[in-house]
Amino acid sequence: MCGIVAYAGHRQAHPVILKGLKRLEYRGYDSAGIALLNGSLQVYKKKGKVEELEKHLAEAATPANLKSHIGIGHTRWATHGEPNDVNAHPHYSQDGKLAIIHNGIIENYDALKKELILNGHTFKSETDTEVLIHFIEYIRQQDDYSLEEAVRIALKRVIGAYAIVIISADEPDMLIAAAREVRWCWAWAKMSSFWPLMPHRSSNTPMKWWYLNDDEVCVIRNHTFVIKDLNDVPTNPHIQTLDIELEAIEKGGFDSFMLKEIYEQPKSISDCMRGRLNADTHTIMLGGLQEYTEHLVQANRIIIMPVALPGMPGW
Ligand code: GLU
Repeated sequence: MCGIVAYAGHRQAHPVILKGLKRLEYRGYDSAGIALLNGSLQVYKKKGKVEELEKHLAEAATPANLKSHIGIGHTRWATHGEPNDVNAHPHYSQDGKLAIIHNGIIENYDALKKELILNGHTFKSETDTEVLIHFIEYIRQQDDYSLEEAVRIALKRVIGAYAIVIISADEPDMLIAAAREVRWCWAWAKMSSFWPLMPHRSSNTPMKWWYLNDDEVCVIRNHTFVIKDLNDVPTNPHIQTLDIELEAIEKGGFDSFMLKEIYEQPKSISDCMRGRLNADTHTIMLGGLQEYTEHLVQANRIIIMPVALPGMPGW
């Protein structure tokens, strides 16, 4: 299951983000990537472990490239397109100025992609995520919308489940985050971050945290944040103060990690199936298979085989 980390603050962003991604490694993933803003957008991504990404950064990025105080990082669990460097997140807009990380599935990505191709867009990856960032860019260009407006309009047309974060080379002090059916947590101290970044909290700074609810868009700019719904109406997040230690948070109130994992199994299973089951129509939706539908309906026999995934024995 993928992980998302975003950071805007006074520190150098990439060590904070990499540390956050490592804290999320236990969730399982197939590739990792990071986007940083410092004048322009720098994107680094690699198939495999966060360690591979670190090596790639050490080889490919100059110290000047890494001098950034805002960035986004992702560990991917592929649903659309095989695990490789190109399909890894972050993904770019057509003009290379917007970058997105995404957890979840955009179910109507194929229809949106066709519409975008008709309007001159070309795609590098096979992912639904790249379609979403091109779609936001496309809407933005239609009526000179702000990025925040374009995100809201695009998300109204999107079917699926997602947690996203977007950064823009034109607005280098801004992060935009949104969610639907993917529960995730934001935290705020002197910096904006969330719980994988807990070790960065200075001990006397109370950290505030909240969950982003369905169809809420959070805009973080210049060390303040505003949360609104898709109709641009401000919402009131339930903000809480974090007054427990990291290990206690990680154990989620259980005495041991093993107990926590046992109790989390139902949630882990429903997370795996999120976006792939339609409870209303009682159908399943396996995005990666869509383009083979014709062959599949004509097949005499379908054999389902287990495949080793990152983090599983045998990988
Ligand atoms: N659907 C996206 C992809 O295949 C995101 C997968 C994820 O949640 O990591 O790239």
